Amino acid sequence: MADSPLLSQCDCGAVAGPLGVCVDYYHAILAEEQADPRMYRWHAPVVCAYLLQHPSRAHEKYLDGQFRQLQLYLDKGLDALLSVAAHQVAWNKRGAGSSYDMAPLAAYAPLPSGGPPRHFRATFSGLPVRDGSFVADGHPAYGHHIEAIAEATVESWRAVRT
Ligand SMILES: [Zn+2]
Repeated sequence: MADSPLLSQCDCGAVAGPLGVCVDYYHAILAEEQADPRMYRWHAPVVCAYLLQHPSRAHEKYLDGQFRQLQLYLDKGLDALLSVAAHQVAWNKRGAGSSYDMAPLAAYAPLPSGGPPRHFRATFSGLPVRDGSFVADGHPAYGHHIEAIAEATVESWRAVRT
């Protein structure tokens, strides 16, 4: 193990886990979910939560829509989020341009301007990995972990003072 304290802490404030910092977990998730359609169902909340916890790696103009997607996921569940995502694909195919159709997300709070938060109570580097897999304890357990990260992300952003 590296003993540099700079390498053991992520820019979201999380302490590194056995795989490294959050980006190492994120890439491992993206690789595993490519081969696992059930795990891939959580792709949208994974991407939104990761980028909102690490906004220096994100495109700022999309963060507001990603913050609203996480709120919709926590409010209405994964199926509702997937149906909004499918609707947006259809919207884009109709030639409405590459921007998000914000209508289904309009009810949710915009991203506060004073971020990013310094701390999240659930992080990617805290995700359990067993035998090299995120779903070794089953997909529902994985879903609960992703939901906890989504909740922590929205909670910390809501606490940002604007
Ligand atoms: Zn991090």
